[in-house]
Amino acid sequence: MQANIRDVAVWAGAVGTTGRNEDGNLALAGVSTDTRRIQPGQLFVPLRGEKFDGHEYVVAARDAGASAALWDESVPVPAELTESGFPLILVNDTLTALQALASGYANTLQAKVIAVTGSNGKTTTKDLIASVLSTTLRVHKTEGNYNNHIGLPLTLLGAPSDTEALVLEMGMSGEGEIALLSAIGRPDIAVVTNVGESHLLQLGSRRNIARAKLEIVDGLKPGGALVYYGDEHLLVEELAGKRKPDGLSEITFGVGASNDWKARSVAVSAEGTTFVAADADGAEQTYELPIPGKHNAVNALAAIAVGKLVGLSADDIREGLKNAKLTGMRIERTVAKNGAIVLNDAYNASPTSVRAAIDLVAGLTGYGRKWIVLGDMLELGPDEAAMHANVGAYVEASKADEALFYGVLSENGYKAAVSNFPPGAVQHYTDKYQLADDLLNRLHPDDLVLVKASRGMKMEEIVTILQKGD
Ligand code: ATP
Ligand code: MG
Repeated sequence: MQANIRDVAVWAGAVGTTGRNEDGNLALAGVSTDTRRIQPGQLFVPLRGEKFDGHEYVVAARDAGASAALWDESVPVPAELTESGFPLILVNDTLTALQALASGYANTLQAKVIAVTGSNGKTTTKDLIASVLSTTLRVHKTEGNYNNHIGLPLTLLGAPSDTEALVLEMGMSGEGEIALLSAIGRPDIAVVTNVGESHLLQLGSRRNIARAKLEIVDGLKPGGALVYYGDEHLLVEELAGKRKPDGLSEITFGVGASNDWKARSVAVSAEGTTFVAADADGAEQTYELPIPGKHNAVNALAAIAVGKLVGLSADDIREGLKNAKLTGMRIERTVAKNGAIVLNDAYNASPTSVRAAIDLVAGLTGYGRKWIVLGDMLELGPDEAAMHANVGAYVEASKADEALFYGVLSENGYKAAVSNFPPGAVQHYTDKYQLADDLLNRLHPDDLVLVKASRGMKMEEIVTILQKGD
């Protein structure tokens, strides 16, 4: 964001300003909520956390070079700030003001806005869409985990003024959150990748999750498009009963024959995926992806659909998918010290994504032995034990030779898996480092290993040990 303080105050819904701000033309260059990362000329936004109140850091922000700050009008301004005339924009609530400011700024951009939500595959799909659009447009996209009520506004405010496409990831853990993010981002195109089981604890049922994801429609600009996973009947049903913006176009993707975009002939190797995408008229094009997994071919369909809506040619889309660079730890292909291939999928896990990873391993051939290393899937709610058992029973479908489970919940998976394998091929560990050690000792150079678990399990430590070889 580059803007003068007067525009910033209007966007933020200011109730007043104090301090020196010349004639309202003070130029502000960017926004920060963290005094440790403040850049000269920025606007500092003090937020309240559980343990801290950003208002206590405004003096530090000023000293670090901030040019102005938002300020909650109900908080007394300390003499230290009043005396120096440091410009403050007074608002009712700094978080709401940050969101409004981001929305106001984004409105001034001549950019197509694409918003992506879903239980699994948001980041992957966001990166694929950004890569496709980057072939012809200047793209700004969500980085890291900036996908919530604070991260999304900061993503918008980080967009250069000449941005032509904004690709936004929208995450949630409960009802109403996606509606808020969509209202802030005002997408032209909304994408729902799928409905899984993450946040089942907060939402109670998969149907409620589907409904919560579809809140992304609520903030769409008139005449916008919804691109969604048509193989999920809950999305189809919930959308049918939902109030929709005028002129909404609905585009489905998936494997099922009735989708507008269908993936066929999906071929997976450890290096990547090739597939044929068929459109509603039956026209077919072949695409390549640098990441393995049938589910990634499906994610890529969403990127193809968005590329087409934005007016890109099939050649540009093909180029964008082929050269896509993805955020780390989503089925990242790495090599162990001894040469074995390690698929690091330790970024996150839910039953849907673990099954997708098991299917992926099933399709990979030409390796000495195949290993599945699974850690706990967290935040699944009261049925977590049964869900681990279901996934455990499914491990057999991977055609793996060995399966190693780690964690308290994973013992349920282990118990369900063990009878499907020869004696000794399935093990359960309560010590991650013991698991890594045993694996290291038994791994052959021509083996393949998949490592997957929820973020909190930090299973990438196992990958690191395999890479280092000790
Ligand atoms: P988060 O909620 O952590 O931000 P995300 O929705 O951004 O997750 P990704 O980071 O893209 O999702 O992928 C997370 C996991 O989901 C990975 O393990 C990946 O293999 C798996 N995954 C990706 N796409 C799909 C899909 N379409 N169906 C099932 N699993 C998927
Ligand atoms: Mg993500």
